[in-house]
Amino acid sequence: MAQRESADPVPTESDLTYLKGVGPRLAEKLERLGIFRIQDLLFHLPLRWEDRTRVIPIGQLRHGDRAVIEGRVQHAETVYRRRRSLLVSISDGSGALVLRFFHFSRAQVERLKRGAHLRCFGEARRGRNSLEMVHPEYRQVEPGSPVEEALTPIYPTTEGLNQNRLRDLITQALAYIRKHPEQLQDLLPADYLPKALAMDLYQALEALHRPSPDVSVTRLLEEDYPPRRRLAFEELLAHRLSLRLARAHFRDDKARALKGDGHLVKAFLAGLDFRLTGAQERVTREVFQDIESTAPMLRLVQGDVGSGKTVVAVLAALRAVESGGQVAVMAPTEILAEQHFQNFREWLAPLGVRVGWFSGKQAAAEKRWSLKALAHGELQVAVGTHALFQDQVRFKDLALAVVDEQHRFGVHQRLALREKGSENGHRPHQLIMTATPIPRTLAMTAYADLDVSLIDELPPGRTPVKTVALPESRRSDVVARVAEACADGRQVYWVCPLVEESEVLQCQAAEESAEQLAEALPDIRVGLIHGRMKAADKESVMAAFKSGEIQLLVATTVIEVGVDVPNASLMILENAEHLGLSQLHQLRGRVGRGREASSCVLLYRAPLNEVARARLEIMRETNDGFQIARRDLELRGPGEVLGTRQTGAAELRIADLMRDNDLLGPVAQAADPLLAREPELARALMQRWVGEASQYVSV
Ligand code: ADP
Ligand code: MG
Repeated sequence: MAQRESADPVPTESDLTYLKGVGPRLAEKLERLGIFRIQDLLFHLPLRWEDRTRVIPIGQLRHGDRAVIEGRVQHAETVYRRRRSLLVSISDGSGALVLRFFHFSRAQVERLKRGAHLRCFGEARRGRNSLEMVHPEYRQVEPGSPVEEALTPIYPTTEGLNQNRLRDLITQALAYIRKHPEQLQDLLPADYLPKALAMDLYQALEALHRPSPDVSVTRLLEEDYPPRRRLAFEELLAHRLSLRLARAHFRDDKARALKGDGHLVKAFLAGLDFRLTGAQERVTREVFQDIESTAPMLRLVQGDVGSGKTVVAVLAALRAVESGGQVAVMAPTEILAEQHFQNFREWLAPLGVRVGWFSGKQAAAEKRWSLKALAHGELQVAVGTHALFQDQVRFKDLALAVVDEQHRFGVHQRLALREKGSENGHRPHQLIMTATPIPRTLAMTAYADLDVSLIDELPPGRTPVKTVALPESRRSDVVARVAEACADGRQVYWVCPLVEESEVLQCQAAEESAEQLAEALPDIRVGLIHGRMKAADKESVMAAFKSGEIQLLVATTVIEVGVDVPNASLMILENAEHLGLSQLHQLRGRVGRGREASSCVLLYRAPLNEVARARLEIMRETNDGFQIARRDLELRGPGEVLGTRQTGAAELRIADLMRDNDLLGPVAQAADPLLAREPELARALMQRWVGEASQYVSV
């Protein structure tokens, strides 16, 4: 009895408060980070590591270095230039440096007086007269006191919880688990882990939280550093499991088998004034095969800009309508949705199929009418923006949902859509189209819940777009080029993309450009289109451009996707240095759709930074969307490329899709067998790594 009392109480699972210094308030903050139990702390992995094992002489510091420095305060003053700031200059004999604080207390001013000896950690930046550190970490030390022995981990954190506190909690958690090893379960059966990565879970975690002194930052990030790789594998596997499980759940539902009698599909193909490309035919077959089954289709169609995805979507829609079902077609922007609406109506109305329009900006009366017609089944196809996700939108019998440009919709929206069809016991089939080609290995992870079809062929007669990059100073040459193209009977886009955060300012910039161009080119009919115009106005401008009435169309990025005017063969892109590769590629895809050789001028403001220069270079080198996507991945990393935040896919904690690319194959191989044979372990793995985000899969 007495012995029991003196032993450590074995805390219950959720007992974070067992740790020293953790009360309910701190526990709440930890919960915000997804940390509910002591062992969760071990899976709260460092974002990065910093080398604070050496004090760097100030004289050796360069702009951009993150380093520990040490020195004596020479001078401290509070200045009131644009902002009140505290400037503290310190020196170590090798050089001097200014510490700059914008937020500071009286006590701080008191402590940072002349003569104080400080050790600071921060990033050195070029300042007015010398290097500066803005808001460095600092403390007062005796000269020569010991530095950190090993790399310092930096953790993701939340307001009111600082790095030191987190580090301390994790140290406690490591000690606790060392004493209670049964509380850290190794969930991954050895035969699912590649041999090279076999290693004890606790040791792997400890090696990242507390790197030993002889390990460098580069070593930690290397592809063959086992502790990190061991955990990266487990994490990637957990993500893949959650997507596979989502897929399995989804496929357990029943969809309507869309067999159709072929009369609409045949009539449509007969009326089409071109022949499908081989790739379009193949992908259409794949889609038809899917929707003939009662297992709901989940198919992603990837195809470069201009590869003709719309036709495939139209064919799928016709098959659904032939089979007595309804179709939803969704696009992320108003203008793209409008384009789809026009295309679908143009192609389907002659076949007697009724197509309705749904947008957030629609007049109330019209909307009421459309909603009713949809609910009664009088409309067979509904085209719109995310307005189609709203609760009041009811279908009589939704059989197929087509989603364009999926990376802008979230996983959650896709699920909301799936509910739309459920009223009569059916789930809709889903066809997702994207023009952001994603390299295969990446797609395997990010879209493991989808089947993927590839349209890898452009319609015949497309000419590659010739691209040049010119500085702003050549603007008048560019204007002359516009005049020439128009004189030749061709049409031109002039795009003024977002530079300011505000849409209002963006539209003003476009308005100004349009005015200037109209003045400079008095003989040319100039039109303007931007996001703040009324839908009807936009539509009439687009119609005028399509008919050739407008020769030069000045636009904001509203034309980014979907707009299709084959006679437009020149595009000028202002502020090109501000745009990402995929956006540049999307925009450029508006030209090169006709027989004429097309060109694209990327206007930029010099000087270019390195990344912008690389982007413009890539655009000049290639027209191939996949090539561009690959390079984009190298420049920006997968999180950005996939728009991970919008897709709802959780951020990876330790794995890196680029660095750990070679793990994706083994991960894909391990996932399905593990899910089938060890469902409980699989679930626990998902809970550990994907946490809350995995809940959407258990709907
Ligand atoms: P995206 O894949 O970018 O959505 P679209 O579906 O908008 O491409 O098609 C681009 C243009 O190519 C449209 O004008 C479309 O009518 C045309 N098109 C599609 N398929 C073919 C084909 N097989 N032959 C010729 N033109 C085609
Ligand atoms: Mg399209």
